[in-house]
Amino acid sequence: MAPAGGSRAKKGILERLDGGEVVVGDGGFLLCLEKRGYVKAGLWTPEAVVEHPEAVRQLHVEFLRAGANVMQTFTFSANEDNMESKWEAVNAAACDLAREVADRGEALVAGGICQTSIYKRHKDEARIKRLFQLQLDVFIRKNVDFLIAEYFEYVEEAVWAVEVLKESGKPVAATMCIGPEGDMHGVAPGDCAVKLVKAGASIIGVNCRFGPETSLKTVALLRDGLQKAGLKAHLMVQSLGFHMPDCGKGGFVDLPEYPFGLEPRVATRWDIQKYARDAYNQGVRFIGGCCGFEPYHIRAIAEELAPERGFLPPASEKHGSWGSGLDMHTKPWIRARARREYWENLLPATGRPFCPSLSKPDA
Ligand SMILES: [Zn+2]
Repeated sequence: MAPAGGSRAKKGILERLDGGEVVVGDGGFLLCLEKRGYVKAGLWTPEAVVEHPEAVRQLHVEFLRAGANVMQTFTFSANEDNMESKWEAVNAAACDLAREVADRGEALVAGGICQTSIYKRHKDEARIKRLFQLQLDVFIRKNVDFLIAEYFEYVEEAVWAVEVLKESGKPVAATMCIGPEGDMHGVAPGDCAVKLVKAGASIIGVNCRFGPETSLKTVALLRDGLQKAGLKAHLMVQSLGFHMPDCGKGGFVDLPEYPFGLEPRVATRWDIQKYARDAYNQGVRFIGGCCGFEPYHIRAIAEELAPERGFLPPASEKHGSWGSGLDMHTKPWIRARARREYWENLLPATGRPFCPSLSKPDA
């Protein structure tokens, strides 16, 4: 009899990455659902999973159609400390939703945990590891395909997460929300990379907090750190969908526009095609997005890397590559935009003549 979940017939994450495939993650659920009215900014917990499962399911569906082949459980901050008695039902339902949608395609399910809010108050390793373990127990029961420890600003806590997750025997990815300056204790990215791989992560990278360019700079530093130490791991990037050249060490949360005034900074689909190509060229094979990413950004990754992946996603049926489709427009000056050079070289206006183009971090 086939095992429940149907995932065993699919190639696993490491098999895909070892074979040189490009894997595309879904992501950015918190901000997507906040804008749609299902998540409250602040603690950013995912009770929408049980309160509005149809909203979470639909977002997974849109990311799958856009070309994502990893469905990450919407379990950010869904630990016992943040969600009290609700945590278990939320984690279980998030796994079911991700699995249901993943099985409509070739997608894998990744169980996700993130940094705790108690680490900063007291570094109680046993208590923090227990929070990770409780979420992991649900992921194992629901037979997720692999695990992601994401959004860690301190490598010490990230290492604890990896140590817990790797005990399951499933592949572990670990991403930190750090920039080129390193973690909040001043540990350099290259040293973070070494610690994560030594702890048992097979895939490492960064997510959130920084824009596409900065995130790729940080990943290059992770890669260099591994090379120097003679270690190997697959590389992963899930950048913000916002341009953030002006943020400091703490990333976008310190900018005055966070979290309700970020729209002028949103990356265009063409910016994200460039991000996908740059990531690929520097050896990153697990490419996705975090806050600010919407499904059409993921489609841009899938379209840019369609030659390497060998397919276009279903959502591309409604999107001509590099503006093709506009050649059907009635106005000739718009028909003239149906070409790559036009979109690739466009400097889009913000429409805000009284706004500065950059701001200063508060912290
Ligand atoms: Zn994020």
